[in-house]
Formats: sequence, structure tokens, C-alpha cells
Amino acid sequence: MDKLYFVVGSQDLYGEECLKNVAKDAQEMTEFFNQHLKNVKVELLPTVVDSKTCIEDLRKVSCDDECIGVMTWMHTFSPAKMWIKGLQELRKPLLHLHTQANEKLPYDTIDMDFMNLNQAAHGDREYGFILARMRIAHQVVAGYYKHAKVLEKIGKFIDVARAINFSKHLKVGSFGNNMREVAVTDGDRVESQIQYGWECNYFAVGDLVKVINEVTEAEIDEKMAEYTSKYTMKTTRIDSVREQAKYEVALEKFLKKNDLGAFADTFQDLYGLKQLPGLAAQNLMGKGIGFGPEGDYKISALSAVLMKMSEGRPGATGFIEDYTYDLTEGEELELAAHMLEVPVTLAKTKPEIDVLPLGIGGKEDPARLIFDGIEGDGIQVTMVDMGDHYRLICADIEFVKQPKPMPNLPVARVMYRHKPNFNIGTAAWCYAGGAHHSVLSTALTREDLVLFARLTGTEIICIGDDTTEADLQKLAWDKYQK
Ligand code: MN
Repeated sequence: MDKLYFVVGSQDLYGEECLKNVAKDAQEMTEFFNQHLKNVKVELLPTVVDSKTCIEDLRKVSCDDECIGVMTWMHTFSPAKMWIKGLQELRKPLLHLHTQANEKLPYDTIDMDFMNLNQAAHGDREYGFILARMRIAHQVVAGYYKHAKVLEKIGKFIDVARAINFSKHLKVGSFGNNMREVAVTDGDRVESQIQYGWECNYFAVGDLVKVINEVTEAEIDEKMAEYTSKYTMKTTRIDSVREQAKYEVALEKFLKKNDLGAFADTFQDLYGLKQLPGLAAQNLMGKGIGFGPEGDYKISALSAVLMKMSEGRPGATGFIEDYTYDLTEGEELELAAHMLEVPVTLAKTKPEIDVLPLGIGGKEDPARLIFDGIEGDGIQVTMVDMGDHYRLICADIEFVKQPKPMPNLPVARVMYRHKPNFNIGTAAWCYAGGAHHSVLSTALTREDLVLFARLTGTEIICIGDDTTEADLQKLAWDKYQK
């Protein structure tokens, strides 16, 4: 299980008795966290009493592959120069928990011993200074550690830390290159690896075709059984569906063999495939595999990372492409989809498997899943390469039921309303340089993305009900500053 280390700060100024109490309280808190925090094991490290213990603790945090992050707290005053060298070695997400072992002040009995032992108000400020002084990105969570709100915030940090750990180990395979002439889906792969850990490498589609051609009828039968257990078979063209089943079996093998958690393809380079991978890609995304069409390795990787972040939470997360609008004044809506590959995670209705013409790509009619999209509050997130830095854009949106049936639309679809309204929301996205490929989520919030951005050193632009005309003007102006 993922591990979160807990490091408590003190010093030897207050005597042995005080340090014993610090260790005892820290142990009690650790046990409480283990009872109340999900999907993580909290492990207490020795109390930091000097520079040496701090270096030892934070080296352990940085070198343990099972560790996703560290939570620190100053039970007493812990002079922050003792923390400098340890913090210089820290390479994991950092949470500064600003709390106390006691909830209430013992007004009747409080004396100087109590004051010396329980002085986070004092020690955590000293510590906060050194984090600020050293420009170390971190999250502060303030409040009594047993309060539900505090636990919830720690839980969110854990989700983001888990996603960052996943990101640092993520390998992305590209079949073919970026779609010809398309700008926003391209990016600096070297920088992606430096900043996010994504190992983005090219694979010949011919090597995948070799695996496809070796898939057995029995393996296809098994995949077909998976499809029919999950989806409604609307088509009678079963051979076309079996072709997709074969692609998915081969893709699963290929991804596993090369340790890939995400992949991208391009319809301009699919030699040896009769269909575009539609259903196959849709079903794989339902298993947390990142996918980017048209060579978009960034959205493939980002979608895998955000699916990891939302693991265990209610709601859906998945890739989408902005497509077309209903511009009825005051009631503007967006219809988002993709030419095939809308992830099954975004389905509200039971998906139907159908085989229909595509009208692009010059291949045989591909099997795909068709469904109506999720509803409720959510976010839309994209990442663009600005040349000298990456930028995340996160817009609050409201997923809505499609106002009318669309019987002739041969793809899965999602509809949403922009915030604060269509004019400001979409103009802000355009000014920010937002892509037409993004990740949608009803499981994540702006708060999660802001934390992810901070901990990975990424610029983020947020759009929502708090975005105004004045923000728009500022965004428009900033964008043209060199
Ligand atoms: Mn696209």
C-alpha cells in the first residue's frame, strides 16, 4: 500500500520528559490517521531534534519507492535552521499539518510545561517561514487533526500525491507521430519527463500489428464475453466487433510488455489495421489507461494521471474533445465527443456497441460504444506547452442532460454548460490558449488541480463562477507579454 510518512519536529531544549510526550502524542496521532485515512499507510519517523535526524528522516522519505509523500508538524518549537539540509534532500510532495495534539485549552490546569510541549502556533510559524524562504512547494492544512474537514483535506493531498507518484513512473507509448500540422497537441517530450516524469517513447505501429496478428480466436472470444457482459450489442456486424476485440487484446499485451500506462495513436499512421481502434480504446480508458488521439501524448498522460487522482472517489474522469455548440442566447451549451474514442467512464446510460461509417481516415467501419454522458458539476482540464513552460487550464463546468435525442449522431457524447457563462467561460479558455483536447471529471475539483499544479511547478489558470470581465482583460493582456 502507498505510504505517507509523518515527521514531527521538536528539539532537546525542553528535556527528556517533553520529548517522550512528543513521541507518545505522535504515535497516538499516527494510529488515528491509520484508522481514518483511506488507501494509505501512515508511518511515523523519529522526532526531528537536530539537523542530523531531519536529514535521516527526509532522506528516507525521498528514497522509499512506496512513499508518496510526507506530512510534517511541529509539536514544540523546532528551530528551522535544523530543517534546511533535510529539506534540501526532499523529493516528495510535502504537507505541512498545522495542528495540535490537544483540541481545547485546559484553562484550569495550564502551566509552562504545557505551553512548552504544545506550541504549534509558535513552532509551525518558524517552520512555515523556512518553507517559504526555501521556495518549497507544499500544502498547508490547518485545524485540529481529528476534525472531519482536516481529514478530508489530508485525504485530498494524499490523492494528489498518489497521482504525482504515478506520474513520476508513467510511461507513454506513441504509435505514429503527432497529427500533421496540428499545433496544440504537440509538446516538448524532454521537458515532460523532467517536470512530470513521463517517459514518452515512439513505437512502430507495425510492431503492434504483429501482436494483433498473433491474437487467437479464444482470446477474442474472451474479450467479446467481457464486452457483452458490460455493454448492449446493437450491431449484427459481429466480425467488425471481433476486430476491435482483437485490437484490445493486442494493445493490452503490448502495454503490459512495455510497461506503458498510456498511449497515443494517429489515424494518419495505422498501416496494417483495418479499423481505427474505437471500442478498444474506449474500453481500455475505462480501466485507467490513458489515451490520446492524433498523437496527443500530453492528454494521454494527463488523463491517466487524473484518473489515478480520482481513484476511490465517486464520479467519472476521462478524455474528451470539444466539438460543437448550441448557441441559443443565454442557454448556450457545448456538445463534446470525439470521432470515436470517448471513454466509457463518461457514460450515464448503458453503452451500445455499434458499427457505423466514420467518414475520415479511409478505413473500414469501426465498432464503437455509443452512450449519453454524465451529469452534474465537474471540471474540464487541459495542458498546453507555452514554449518556455507548461500551462494547465481548469474550468468549472456543469454537465447536463442532452436537451433532445440525437438519433443520427454515431458517437458517444457529453454536454455541458460553461461558467460563469458561455461568453466569459469560453473566451477565457481561448485567451489562455486552451486545447480542444481535455480531461473531464466529476470526481475532481479545482482545488485538486491547483494543488497538483503547485506541487509540480506548473502554471494554472482557473475559470469558473468567480471569473469576471476584468479577469478576462487581464488574461488577454498577460498573454501577449513576452
Ligand atoms: Mn481530436
